[in-house]
Amino acid sequence: MKEQVKVTQYGQGTLAVHAGQAPDPTTGAIMTPIYQTSTYVQRAPGEHMGHEYARVTNPTRTALEGNLAALEGAAHGICFSSGVAGIDAIIKSLRPGDHVLSTNDLYGGTFRLFRKVFEPFGLEFSFIDMRNLDEVSKAIKPNTRMMWLETPTNPLIRVLDLEALSALAKEHNIEVAVDNTFASPYLQQPLSLGADLVLHSSTKYLGGHSDLIGGVVCTNSDDWNEKLRFQIKCAGAVPGPMDCFLNLRGTKTLHIRMQRHCENAKMIADFLDNHSKVGRVYYPGLPQDPGHELASRQMKDFGGMLSFTLAADSVENAMKVLSSTSVFSLAESLGGVESLIGHPASMTHASIPREERVRAGLSDSLIRLSVGIEDINDLINDLDSALMQVS
Ligand SMILES: *Cc1c(COP(=O)(O)O)cnc(C)c1O
Repeated sequence: MKEQVKVTQYGQGTLAVHAGQAPDPTTGAIMTPIYQTSTYVQRAPGEHMGHEYARVTNPTRTALEGNLAALEGAAHGICFSSGVAGIDAIIKSLRPGDHVLSTNDLYGGTFRLFRKVFEPFGLEFSFIDMRNLDEVSKAIKPNTRMMWLETPTNPLIRVLDLEALSALAKEHNIEVAVDNTFASPYLQQPLSLGADLVLHSSTKYLGGHSDLIGGVVCTNSDDWNEKLRFQIKCAGAVPGPMDCFLNLRGTKTLHIRMQRHCENAKMIADFLDNHSKVGRVYYPGLPQDPGHELASRQMKDFGGMLSFTLAADSVENAMKVLSSTSVFSLAESLGGVESLIGHPASMTHASIPREERVRAGLSDSLIRLSVGIEDINDLINDLDSALMQVS
C-alpha cells in the first residue's frame, strides 16, 4: 500500500497492519521510523514542516494515533504515556462540582485516581452497579456530567450494556466514557454503540507483548480532541517514540492475537467448568454466565480474561494453585502473549477489607487468568496439575 489507508474502506485486520502508516517518504522504509527528537528545525519563525516541539507532536506518535483511531472507528486518537494518564486528562477536562457516575466493578487504579486525587479537588463520584439501569437512572443528579463505564470488568468479567447506558446518558446530556481495555477494539467498538470517548491502557492487548506502558483516548468529537490535545500540550503526559514504535508493531497482530486469546480462553473456561476442584467460572462465553446473552450481541467474541473460584474456597488453596503453575506466570497486568495468573484478594484488591471484598463477590479463592496465545494443551495441563495440588 503506497498511500495512508482510508479508515472506512478496509477491515480490522488490514487497518491493524496499515492504518496511520505510510512508507517513509525520504527512504522508502516500510516501517515508521522512531523519530527520536525533541524539536524540529524551522525555515523561518513559524515556518515548520508540521511539527514544532515533541511534547505537542512526534511523527511516530502521530502514526500510532492514526492507527489506534482507525481500529476504534474514530476520527481522533490521542496517545498518552499510560492508561491512567489518559483517564487523568479526561477527568481534568471536567470542573469542580461536576458529578461522575461510575461503575463499581472498576479497575483499581481508576478508583484510586477518582477517590484520592480528584475528590479532594471538588469533583464528585458515585460507584454503582451499572448492570441495573434503574439504579443508574436513580443515581443521575443535576450536576452529573459523565458516565464512566468499563466492560468486561475486572476481575468478575461482568458485562455492561453500552448501547442502553449511552442512550440513557444522552437523554440527560451526560457524556459517556468507556474503558475498553479488556475487550480491545477487535472485540468491541463503544463509539458505534453511542459512547463519546473510549479509553485504552495500550499496555495491555493493544501493545500485546508486555513491553510498554501507554494509553490512548479515541473520540469522534472535535471538541474533545481539542480539549485533550490541550491537556497534552499543558501537562505533557506523552509516550516516547520508542514506545510508540513498539505499540505500532504490536497492533499489527492485534486481530490474530485476539482470535487465539478468545479461542484458548473459551477452551479453558469449559475445562474449568467441568473440573471437580473448581467452584464457579466467570466467563461470558459460558452459556450460563449472566453476561452471556448481552456479550453475544455486543462483542465479536468473549475475550481472553476469565476468573474462577475453588470448590474448597480458601486463600491457602488459591496460593497452592498460584505457586504450582509453570506456563502461567504469577504477575499483575494482562493482555500480553504470555499467560498470567493472579489472586485479586492478595494482589490487585488487597487494600479492600475482607468483608467488603467478599460482599462485592471477590471470594478468598478467586483466581484471575489472562489467557495467552500458547498451545492450549500446555495451558490446560498446567492448570490441571496445579489444581491437583488442592486437597
Ligand atoms: C491497566 C489498566 C488501566 C491503567 O493503565 P496503565 O497503562 O497501567 O496506566 C486502566 N484500565 C484498565 C481496565 C486496565 O486494565
